[in-house]
Amino acid sequence: MSYESRQSRDWFEEGEGLRFQCTLCGNCCTGPEGYVHVSDDEATALAARFQMTRETFLADFTRDTAMGRSLKETSTPHGLDCIFLDRTTIPGKAICGVYELRPAQCRTWPFWPSIVQSRRNWESAKRTCPGIDTGPLIPPEQIRILRDKTPRDPSR
Ligand code: SF4
Repeated sequence: MSYESRQSRDWFEEGEGLRFQCTLCGNCCTGPEGYVHVSDDEATALAARFQMTRETFLADFTRDTAMGRSLKETSTPHGLDCIFLDRTTIPGKAICGVYELRPAQCRTWPFWPSIVQSRRNWESAKRTCPGIDTGPLIPPEQIRILRDKTPRDPSR
């Protein structure tokens, strides 16, 4: 292996990837005021699912923030929940009500650039996400794909 390729290796290649399996705790979808980026295509797909126009979907389910358009939140005893977080269908669990159409920011968690940039940040994210370091091994190539698909890293 050349010097250059060794230098460009990501730290998570050491263990041949990282383990992750969601426990449906909902921590990543609640808390203090947050931001969930919604692209035009994602808004169009979600609007179609609810059989409404994109304009109505944007008005009902999104809000403008300093970082751009975000899904709205609702105030609950847990904090500010994503408007699509469902805490009733499975007792004791929190599931995404639009899972198949969830935005890229949600699909790429917890492999956001800021989290996978170092082992320290990955370990730190475990404080809020109990799914980190559990479940199947996600290979480095897949981690890089998810990392690079993160639309706008909200933790930066
Ligand atoms: S914080 Fe982690 S384990 Fe909990 S719902 Fe989010 S991804 Fe799943």
